[in-house]
Amino acid sequence: MVWKVPQTRFRLSPWQERGVAVFSRFPKHHQSPVPPPAADLTPERGSILRWRRFAILMLLAGAAGIEAVLAVGSVTTDQPVLVHGAAGWLVALALILALQRGNSFLGVTRLVIGSTILAITALVAAIDGVEMVALFFMWPLLGAAYLLSRMELAVATVLTACGYAFGLLARDEPGGFPWVDYVLALTVALAIIAVVRALAENLGTTIDSLRHTSTTDPLTGLLNRRGFQRRLSRHYDRAVVDDRPITALLIDIDHFKRINDEHGHPVGDRALTRFTELLGASCRASDLVARVGGEEFAVVMPGATLEQAIARAEQFCAILRDDRAINGVQMTASVGVAARQGLEGWEAMLAAADAAVYEAKRTGRDRIVTSDSTAVV
Ligand code: GH3
Ligand code: MG
Ligand code: MG
Repeated sequence: MVWKVPQTRFRLSPWQERGVAVFSRFPKHHQSPVPPPAADLTPERGSILRWRRFAILMLLAGAAGIEAVLAVGSVTTDQPVLVHGAAGWLVALALILALQRGNSFLGVTRLVIGSTILAITALVAAIDGVEMVALFFMWPLLGAAYLLSRMELAVATVLTACGYAFGLLARDEPGGFPWVDYVLALTVALAIIAVVRALAENLGTTIDSLRHTSTTDPLTGLLNRRGFQRRLSRHYDRAVVDDRPITALLIDIDHFKRINDEHGHPVGDRALTRFTELLGASCRASDLVARVGGEEFAVVMPGATLEQAIARAEQFCAILRDDRAINGVQMTASVGVAARQGLEGWEAMLAAADAAVYEAKRTGRDRIVTSDSTAVV
Protein backbone atom coordinates (compact mmCIF):
# COMPACT_ATOMS: atom_id res chain seq x y z
CA MET A 1 0.00 0.00 0.00
CA VAL A 2 1.37 3.43 -0.90
CA TRP A 3 0.37 6.62 0.85
CA LYS A 4 1.18 10.23 0.21
CA VAL A 5 2.21 12.94 2.64
CA PRO A 6 1.74 16.57 1.66
CA GLN A 7 4.98 18.41 0.96
CA THR A 8 6.12 20.55 3.90
CA ARG A 9 9.36 22.10 5.14
CA PHE A 10 11.20 19.53 7.24
CA ARG A 11 13.66 20.09 10.02
CA LEU A 12 16.82 17.95 10.11
CA SER A 13 16.82 15.18 12.66
CA PRO A 14 19.99 15.10 14.85
CA TRP A 15 21.60 12.26 12.90
CA GLN A 16 21.25 14.20 9.69
CA GLU A 17 23.32 16.99 11.15
CA ARG A 18 26.35 14.84 11.82
CA GLY A 19 28.60 13.44 9.15
CA VAL A 20 31.82 11.82 7.79
CA ALA A 21 33.41 8.87 5.72
CA VAL A 22 33.87 5.49 3.91
CA PHE A 23 32.84 1.83 3.44
CA SER A 24 32.49 -1.63 5.01
CA ARG A 25 32.65 -5.39 4.67
CA PHE A 26 29.14 -5.40 3.21
CA PRO A 27 29.28 -7.28 -0.11
CA LYS A 28 31.36 -5.42 -2.65
CA HIS A 29 28.47 -4.94 -5.04
CA HIS A 30 26.93 -2.50 -2.61
CA GLN A 31 29.84 -0.16 -2.70
CA SER A 32 29.16 3.10 -4.39
CA PRO A 33 30.25 3.21 -8.03
CA VAL A 34 31.19 6.83 -7.46
CA PRO A 35 34.96 6.90 -7.06
CA PRO A 36 36.23 8.54 -3.88
CA PRO A 37 37.44 12.08 -4.43
CA ALA A 38 41.16 12.57 -5.03
CA ALA A 39 41.56 13.93 -1.51
CA ASP A 40 40.95 10.41 -0.11
CA LEU A 41 43.95 9.06 -1.99
CA THR A 42 46.34 11.71 -0.74
CA PRO A 43 47.46 12.39 2.82
CA GLU A 44 44.83 14.26 4.81
CA ARG A 45 44.75 18.01 4.42
CA GLY A 46 46.47 18.93 7.70
CA SER A 47 49.33 16.60 6.86
CA ILE A 48 49.68 18.10 3.36
CA LEU A 49 49.86 21.62 4.75
CA ARG A 50 52.47 20.65 7.35
CA TRP A 51 54.56 18.78 4.81
CA ARG A 52 54.37 21.67 2.34
CA ARG A 53 55.41 24.24 4.93
CA PHE A 54 58.29 22.06 6.06
CA ALA A 55 59.47 21.41 2.47
CA ILE A 56 59.30 25.13 1.60
CA LEU A 57 61.38 25.97 4.67
CA MET A 58 63.93 23.25 3.87
CA LEU A 59 64.28 24.35 0.25
CA LEU A 60 64.70 28.01 1.21
CA ALA A 61 67.11 27.13 4.04
CA GLY A 62 69.13 24.96 1.64
CA ALA A 63 69.38 27.76 -0.96
CA ALA A 64 70.22 30.38 1.67
CA GLY A 65 72.81 28.05 3.26
CA ILE A 66 74.55 27.49 -0.07
CA GLU A 67 74.66 31.21 -0.84
CA ALA A 68 75.86 32.02 2.70
CA VAL A 69 78.76 29.53 2.77
CA LEU A 70 79.82 30.69 -0.70
CA ALA A 71 79.62 34.33 0.35
CA VAL A 72 81.78 33.88 3.45
CA GLY A 73 84.17 31.67 1.51
CA SER A 74 83.70 28.57 3.68
CA VAL A 75 83.42 26.52 0.50
CA THR A 76 84.70 27.09 -2.97
CA THR A 77 83.56 26.17 -6.44
CA ASP A 78 84.96 26.55 -9.88
CA GLN A 79 81.44 26.38 -11.30
CA PRO A 80 79.62 29.29 -9.61
CA VAL A 81 76.94 29.46 -12.29
CA LEU A 82 75.95 25.86 -11.64
CA VAL A 83 75.90 26.35 -7.86
CA HIS A 84 73.91 29.62 -7.98
CA GLY A 85 71.65 28.03 -10.55
CA ALA A 86 70.99 25.06 -8.23
CA ALA A 87 70.31 27.41 -5.32
CA GLY A 88 67.95 29.45 -7.53
CA TRP A 89 66.21 26.25 -8.61
CA LEU A 90 65.61 25.31 -4.95
CA VAL A 91 63.98 28.72 -4.39
CA ALA A 92 61.86 28.23 -7.53
CA LEU A 93 60.71 24.83 -6.22
CA ALA A 94 59.80 26.42 -2.88
CA LEU A 95 57.68 28.95 -4.79
CA ILE A 96 56.01 26.24 -6.86
CA LEU A 97 55.12 24.40 -3.64
CA ALA A 98 53.86 27.59 -2.01
CA LEU A 99 51.58 28.28 -4.99
CA GLN A 100 50.31 24.69 -5.25
CA ARG A 101 46.53 24.50 -4.88
CA GLY A 102 43.75 21.97 -5.37
CA ASN A 103 44.37 18.34 -6.29
CA SER A 104 47.82 18.80 -7.81
CA PHE A 105 49.64 18.06 -4.52
CA LEU A 106 51.09 14.67 -5.49
CA GLY A 107 52.06 15.82 -8.99
CA VAL A 108 53.85 18.87 -7.60
CA THR A 109 55.49 16.72 -4.93
CA ARG A 110 56.90 14.36 -7.59
CA LEU A 111 58.25 17.35 -9.50
CA VAL A 112 59.82 18.87 -6.39
CA ILE A 113 61.42 15.60 -5.26
CA GLY A 114 62.84 14.75 -8.70
CA SER A 115 64.13 18.27 -9.32
CA THR A 116 65.66 18.55 -5.85
CA ILE A 117 67.62 15.35 -6.50
CA LEU A 118 68.97 16.88 -9.72
CA ALA A 119 69.82 20.17 -7.98
CA ILE A 120 71.72 18.31 -5.23
CA THR A 121 73.54 16.28 -7.89
CA ALA A 122 74.75 19.59 -9.36
CA LEU A 123 75.88 20.79 -5.90
CA VAL A 124 77.76 17.54 -5.17
CA ALA A 125 79.53 17.91 -8.52
CA ALA A 126 80.34 21.61 -8.22
CA ILE A 127 81.16 22.33 -4.58
CA ASP A 128 84.75 21.52 -3.74
CA GLY A 129 85.91 19.43 -0.84
CA VAL A 130 82.61 19.14 1.11
CA GLU A 131 81.48 15.53 0.93
CA MET A 132 78.68 16.21 3.42
CA VAL A 133 76.76 18.07 0.69
CA ALA A 134 75.52 14.61 -0.29
CA LEU A 135 73.55 14.52 2.98
CA PHE A 136 71.09 16.88 1.30
CA PHE A 137 69.93 13.90 -0.77
CA MET A 138 68.12 12.70 2.37
CA TRP A 139 65.55 15.49 2.10
CA PRO A 140 63.91 14.45 -1.17
CA LEU A 141 64.36 10.77 -0.28
CA LEU A 142 62.53 11.18 3.03
CA GLY A 143 59.76 13.07 1.24
CA ALA A 144 59.48 10.23 -1.30
CA ALA A 145 59.48 7.59 1.46
CA TYR A 146 56.64 9.35 3.26
CA LEU A 147 54.48 10.55 0.42
CA LEU A 148 54.97 8.62 -2.81
CA SER A 149 54.21 5.09 -3.99
CA ARG A 150 56.77 2.28 -3.58
CA MET A 151 57.55 2.42 -7.29
CA GLU A 152 58.11 6.16 -7.17
CA LEU A 153 60.28 5.77 -4.08
CA ALA A 154 62.34 3.15 -5.94
CA VAL A 155 62.72 5.56 -8.88
CA ALA A 156 63.77 8.39 -6.53
CA THR A 157 66.31 6.06 -4.85
CA VAL A 158 67.82 4.95 -8.18
CA LEU A 159 67.90 8.58 -9.36
CA THR A 160 69.71 9.54 -6.16
CA ALA A 161 72.23 6.68 -6.46
CA CYS A 162 72.95 7.70 -10.07
CA GLY A 163 73.04 11.41 -9.21
CA TYR A 164 75.41 10.85 -6.32
CA ALA A 165 77.71 8.69 -8.46
CA PHE A 166 77.60 11.27 -11.25
CA GLY A 167 78.37 14.10 -8.79
CA LEU A 168 81.35 12.21 -7.34
CA LEU A 169 82.68 11.35 -10.81
CA ALA A 170 82.34 14.97 -11.92
CA ARG A 171 84.41 16.13 -8.94
CA ASP A 172 87.27 14.15 -10.40
CA GLU A 173 89.07 13.98 -7.04
CA PRO A 174 92.59 12.59 -6.81
CA GLY A 175 92.50 8.98 -5.63
CA GLY A 176 89.68 8.01 -8.01
CA PHE A 177 86.05 7.25 -7.29
CA PRO A 178 85.45 7.02 -3.50
CA TRP A 179 83.78 3.62 -3.54
CA VAL A 180 83.78 3.10 0.20
CA ASP A 181 82.15 6.46 0.94
CA TYR A 182 79.66 5.92 -1.85
CA VAL A 183 78.56 2.45 -0.70
CA LEU A 184 78.46 3.42 2.98
CA ALA A 185 76.40 6.55 2.31
CA LEU A 186 73.94 4.64 0.14
CA THR A 187 73.59 1.83 2.69
CA VAL A 188 72.80 4.27 5.49
CA ALA A 189 70.36 6.16 3.26
CA LEU A 190 68.59 2.93 2.27
CA ALA A 191 68.26 1.85 5.91
CA ILE A 192 66.77 5.22 6.90
CA ILE A 193 64.25 5.36 4.07
CA ALA A 194 63.25 1.72 4.71
CA VAL A 195 62.44 2.59 8.33
CA VAL A 196 60.56 5.77 7.38
CA ARG A 197 58.64 3.88 4.72
CA ALA A 198 57.65 1.12 7.15
CA LEU A 199 56.46 3.71 9.69
CA ALA A 200 54.51 5.62 7.03
CA GLU A 201 52.80 2.43 5.80
CA ASN A 202 51.92 1.37 9.35
CA LEU A 203 50.43 4.77 9.97
CA GLY A 204 48.46 4.55 6.71
CA THR A 205 47.05 1.13 7.65
CA THR A 206 46.07 2.38 11.10
CA ILE A 207 44.33 5.42 9.66
CA ASP A 208 42.47 3.28 7.10
CA SER A 209 41.30 0.90 9.77
CA LEU A 210 40.16 3.74 12.07
CA ARG A 211 38.32 5.32 9.18
CA HIS A 212 36.70 1.99 8.36
CA THR A 213 35.65 1.39 11.96
CA SER A 214 34.24 4.87 12.34
CA THR A 215 32.00 4.50 9.30
CA THR A 216 30.91 0.86 9.50
CA ASP A 217 28.22 -0.80 11.57
CA PRO A 218 29.83 -3.85 13.24
CA LEU A 219 26.68 -6.00 13.39
CA THR A 220 25.59 -5.80 9.76
CA GLY A 221 28.78 -4.60 8.06
CA LEU A 222 26.75 -1.83 6.41
CA LEU A 223 27.74 1.80 6.37
CA ASN A 224 26.76 3.52 9.57
CA ARG A 225 25.15 6.93 9.63
CA ARG A 226 28.45 8.74 9.27
CA GLY A 227 29.65 6.75 6.30
CA PHE A 228 26.22 6.98 4.78
CA GLN A 229 26.00 10.74 5.00
CA ARG A 230 29.36 11.34 3.42
CA ARG A 231 28.65 8.96 0.56
CA LEU A 232 25.16 10.25 0.12
CA SER A 233 26.35 13.82 -0.26
CA ARG A 234 28.68 12.68 -3.07
CA HIS A 235 25.95 10.68 -4.82
CA TYR A 236 23.57 13.55 -4.45
CA ASP A 237 26.01 16.11 -5.84
CA ARG A 238 26.73 13.80 -8.76
CA ALA A 239 22.98 13.45 -9.45
CA VAL A 240 22.58 17.24 -9.39
CA VAL A 241 25.52 17.75 -11.77
CA ASP A 242 24.27 15.05 -14.15
CA ASP A 243 20.66 16.18 -13.67
CA ARG A 244 19.59 12.61 -12.93
CA PRO A 245 17.02 11.36 -10.41
CA ILE A 246 18.06 10.05 -7.02
CA THR A 247 15.67 8.58 -4.49
CA ALA A 248 15.98 7.71 -0.82
CA LEU A 249 14.17 5.06 1.21
CA LEU A 250 14.19 5.12 4.99
CA ILE A 251 13.06 1.81 6.43
CA ASP A 252 12.13 1.23 10.07
CA ILE A 253 11.36 -2.29 11.24
CA ASP A 254 7.95 -2.47 12.91
CA HIS A 255 7.63 -3.33 16.59
CA PHE A 256 11.19 -4.53 16.75
CA LYS A 257 11.23 -4.13 20.49
CA ARG A 258 8.68 -6.95 20.68
CA ILE A 259 11.06 -9.32 18.87
CA ASN A 260 13.70 -8.58 21.50
CA ASP A 261 11.20 -8.90 24.31
CA GLU A 262 9.73 -12.19 23.07
CA HIS A 263 12.82 -13.94 21.71
CA GLY A 264 15.75 -12.24 23.38
CA HIS A 265 18.39 -9.82 22.20
CA PRO A 266 20.57 -12.38 20.36
CA VAL A 267 17.59 -13.35 18.20
CA GLY A 268 16.94 -9.63 17.67
CA ASP A 269 20.52 -9.31 16.43
CA ARG A 270 20.10 -12.24 14.08
CA ALA A 271 16.86 -10.73 12.81
CA LEU A 272 18.74 -7.52 12.01
CA THR A 273 21.39 -9.51 10.15
CA ARG A 274 18.70 -11.39 8.23
CA PHE A 275 16.96 -8.13 7.42
CA THR A 276 20.28 -6.84 6.05
CA GLU A 277 20.67 -9.94 3.86
CA LEU A 278 17.20 -9.55 2.40
CA LEU A 279 17.69 -5.84 1.87
CA GLY A 280 21.05 -6.46 0.21
CA ALA A 281 19.47 -9.02 -2.13
CA SER A 282 16.86 -6.43 -3.14
CA CYS A 283 19.41 -3.72 -3.84
CA ARG A 284 21.57 -2.95 -6.83
CA ALA A 285 25.28 -2.45 -7.04
CA SER A 286 24.76 1.26 -7.48
CA ASP A 287 22.58 1.64 -4.37
CA LEU A 288 23.86 3.03 -1.13
CA VAL A 289 22.71 0.86 1.78
CA ALA A 290 23.21 1.80 5.42
CA ARG A 291 22.09 1.11 8.95
CA VAL A 292 21.28 4.57 10.19
CA GLY A 293 19.80 3.62 13.57
CA GLY A 294 19.13 0.56 15.76
CA GLU A 295 16.43 -0.90 13.51
CA GLU A 296 16.44 1.83 10.90
CA PHE A 297 17.98 1.46 7.47
CA ALA A 298 18.44 3.68 4.47
CA VAL A 299 18.73 2.88 0.79
CA VAL A 300 19.63 5.55 -1.70
CA MET A 301 19.02 4.69 -5.33
CA PRO A 302 20.93 6.88 -7.75
CA GLY A 303 19.17 7.06 -11.10
CA ALA A 304 15.86 5.67 -9.72
CA THR A 305 12.67 7.67 -10.08
CA LEU A 306 10.19 7.81 -7.24
CA GLU A 307 8.01 5.23 -9.00
CA GLN A 308 10.89 2.82 -9.51
CA ALA A 309 11.96 3.21 -5.89
CA ILE A 310 8.43 2.55 -4.68
CA ALA A 311 8.18 -0.57 -6.84
CA ARG A 312 11.42 -1.91 -5.38
CA ALA A 313 10.35 -1.02 -1.85
CA GLU A 314 7.09 -2.91 -2.36
CA GLN A 315 9.01 -5.94 -3.62
CA PHE A 316 11.30 -5.85 -0.59
CA CYS A 317 8.45 -5.44 1.89
CA ALA A 318 6.70 -8.48 0.37
CA ILE A 319 9.85 -10.61 0.67
CA LEU A 320 10.39 -9.43 4.24
CA ARG A 321 6.79 -10.18 5.21
CA ASP A 322 7.06 -13.75 3.89
CA ASP A 323 10.39 -14.51 5.55
CA ARG A 324 10.47 -16.61 8.71
CA ALA A 325 14.11 -17.64 8.68
CA ILE A 326 14.96 -16.42 12.19
CA ASN A 327 13.06 -18.41 14.84
CA GLY A 328 9.94 -18.20 12.70
CA VAL A 329 9.75 -14.47 13.45
CA GLN A 330 7.86 -12.31 10.98
CA MET A 331 9.20 -8.83 10.33
CA THR A 332 7.44 -5.98 8.61
CA ALA A 333 8.70 -2.50 7.89
CA SER A 334 7.48 1.04 7.47
CA VAL A 335 9.13 2.77 4.55
CA GLY A 336 9.41 6.46 3.70
CA VAL A 337 10.32 7.38 0.12
CA ALA A 338 11.55 10.75 -1.13
CA ALA A 339 13.05 11.82 -4.44
CA ARG A 340 15.36 14.75 -5.15
CA GLN A 341 12.87 16.58 -7.34
CA GLY A 342 11.35 19.57 -5.62
CA LEU A 343 13.66 19.38 -2.61
CA GLU A 344 16.78 21.40 -1.85
CA GLY A 345 19.71 19.19 -0.88
CA TRP A 346 20.20 15.63 0.39
CA GLU A 347 19.35 16.70 3.93
CA ALA A 348 15.90 17.80 2.81
CA MET A 349 15.47 14.56 0.84
CA LEU A 350 16.26 12.48 3.95
CA ALA A 351 14.10 14.67 6.15
CA ALA A 352 11.21 14.16 3.73
CA ALA A 353 11.75 10.38 3.79
CA ASP A 354 11.96 10.54 7.60
CA ALA A 355 8.64 12.35 7.83
CA ALA A 356 7.12 9.80 5.47
CA VAL A 357 8.30 6.95 7.77
CA TYR A 358 6.65 8.72 10.67
CA GLU A 359 3.46 8.95 8.65
CA ALA A 360 3.69 5.25 7.78
CA LYS A 361 3.96 4.43 11.48
CA ARG A 362 1.13 6.75 12.38
CA THR A 363 -1.20 5.26 9.80
CA GLY A 364 -0.71 1.63 10.80
CA ARG A 365 2.84 0.38 9.84
CA ASP A 366 3.82 -2.25 7.23
CA ARG A 367 3.42 0.25 4.40
CA ILE A 368 5.22 2.59 2.08
CA VAL A 369 4.56 6.31 2.23
CA THR A 370 5.94 8.85 -0.17
CA SER A 371 6.38 12.57 0.24
CA ASP A 372 6.23 13.22 -3.48
CA SER A 373 3.12 14.87 -4.84
CA THR A 374 3.28 13.31 -8.33
CA ALA A 375 1.29 10.23 -9.33
CA VAL A 376 2.12 7.13 -7.33
CA VAL A 377 1.97 3.47 -8.38
P1 GH3 B 1 8.07 0.95 15.85
O1 GH3 B 1 7.21 0.05 15.04
O2 GH3 B 1 7.36 2.16 16.35
O3 GH3 B 1 9.31 1.34 15.14
O4 GH3 B 1 8.48 0.13 17.13
P2 GH3 B 1 9.90 -0.44 17.49
O5 GH3 B 1 9.74 -1.36 18.65
O6 GH3 B 1 10.53 -1.01 16.29
O7 GH3 B 1 10.66 0.87 17.85
P3 GH3 B 1 11.33 1.34 19.17
O8 GH3 B 1 12.08 2.59 18.80
O9 GH3 B 1 10.33 1.45 20.26
O10 GH3 B 1 12.35 0.21 19.56
C1 GH3 B 1 13.45 -0.09 18.77
C2 GH3 B 1 14.07 -1.29 19.39
O11 GH3 B 1 15.19 -1.72 18.60
C3 GH3 B 1 14.58 -1.04 20.77
C4 GH3 B 1 15.99 -1.54 20.77
O12 GH3 B 1 16.25 -2.34 21.87
C5 GH3 B 1 16.06 -2.37 19.51
N1 GH3 B 1 17.40 -2.36 18.99
C6 GH3 B 1 18.12 -1.32 18.56
N2 GH3 B 1 19.34 -1.71 18.16
C7 GH3 B 1 19.39 -3.05 18.37
C8 GH3 B 1 20.41 -4.05 18.16
O13 GH3 B 1 21.51 -3.77 17.69
N3 GH3 B 1 20.12 -5.32 18.48
C9 GH3 B 1 18.91 -5.67 18.98
N4 GH3 B 1 18.68 -6.93 19.28
N5 GH3 B 1 17.95 -4.75 19.20
C10 GH3 B 1 18.17 -3.47 18.89
MG1 MG C 1 13.04 3.21 15.00
MG1 MG D 1 10.95 0.29 14.64
